[in-house]
Amino acid sequence: MKRNSAGKPKEKMDKADPTIDKFFGGSSKKAGTWSAEGGNDLLIYTTDDCTPQSKVACFDMDGTLITTKSGKVFPTDVNDWKLLYDCISIRIQSLVSEGFKVVIFTNQKGIQVGKVDKNSFKRKIEAIVSEIGAPIQVFVSIGSGIYRKPCTGMWEALLKNNGDVQIDKESSVYVGDAAGRHKSKIRPKKDHSSADRYFAANLGISFKTPEQFFLDQKLEEPWGPPTFEPSRLFSEKISELEPADVKVPSEEKEVIVMVGFPGSGKSTFAKKLSEDHGYVIVNRDKLGTWQKCVAAAKYALNEGKSVVIDNTNPDRESRKRYTEIAKELDVECRCFKMSCNLAQAQHNLRYRILTSKSAQDVGIMVLRMHGSKFQEPELAEGFNEIATVNFIPKFDDESRRELFCMYLTD
Ligand SMILES: [Mg+2]
Repeated sequence: MKRNSAGKPKEKMDKADPTIDKFFGGSSKKAGTWSAEGGNDLLIYTTDDCTPQSKVACFDMDGTLITTKSGKVFPTDVNDWKLLYDCISIRIQSLVSEGFKVVIFTNQKGIQVGKVDKNSFKRKIEAIVSEIGAPIQVFVSIGSGIYRKPCTGMWEALLKNNGDVQIDKESSVYVGDAAGRHKSKIRPKKDHSSADRYFAANLGISFKTPEQFFLDQKLEEPWGPPTFEPSRLFSEKISELEPADVKVPSEEKEVIVMVGFPGSGKSTFAKKLSEDHGYVIVNRDKLGTWQKCVAAAKYALNEGKSVVIDNTNPDRESRKRYTEIAKELDVECRCFKMSCNLAQAQHNLRYRILTSKSAQDVGIMVLRMHGSKFQEPELAEGFNEIATVNFIPKFDDESRRELFCMYLTD
């Protein structure tokens, strides 16, 4: 059986459309093979002359190797592209002669959501690779899972598609334009994201911007700081509760009103209260309406149980429903506020999606809504105490911990 350089059987892969040369104005195409991984979340194009190497020079595509011909931010169609700099072909060809494998890692979620036709996009990749005129392997992430930068799934796929050759990270480089750079005299618009810089940081390989790599720009432009540094959670010694002498459980029957973003760890905390101390969890996602939550809380208290209200409860109005019950039934009421901010909640939610099939996707709009409704809890609302709960993640195994410590959102 004939095999390509990636070591995959050739006959399983779909062949490029031979009519494409005409479509792209007769440019000569570089022969190569398409394959797919991860249930089609990842497309891989490998030119026939691409060979496994230990040194890899990796590039983002849009805004790094190509830009639009039209000058628009997003291409108007699959032909709306040109190489970003005149020197790109020559530079990449010389990398190949220096013994590098040249790799492109590109996020293209638009294909999955149906904005871009998959086959036309494949033809575009073939045309770009032909124009560069060098052996190249291209990884196209079309989903929102582990293959999407800054997550490192595409790198793992590269490791599997490099013959038996180990990759030497020390002598490899990744170049991308999503570098989190600020607006400045030389940069009229700030970078749209930091995904490329984070991707390289997650991998532990050297990162350069297109200007630094292709134009030899020496200047290190200001960027960041990251909105959330996951590893920091482990570098600082923090206690779960503040103040540290907060009593859990309370001696008397009580209502605990949780406050925090979706993804801030409220449910984990409430579950622990339930398992360790018999608190009854009241949760709107399960019960449907706040009226049902109020009824369930009353019922549990009347049964002699303490309750924990596991809702986001951002504002006074939502919390008042529960302080009023406490008052009515003459029990204590405490507020437990999660310290987790929006950026961390976004990270936590992304981690859940990547690690659990049942995790619900919570959009950024829902998080922003909580942020805009948020009113700092006060004792005057009817609380006997207000405590802060710090998010301290725990992991079953080291690989989960490693994943959590990466940048997962851009
Ligand atoms: Mg880009």
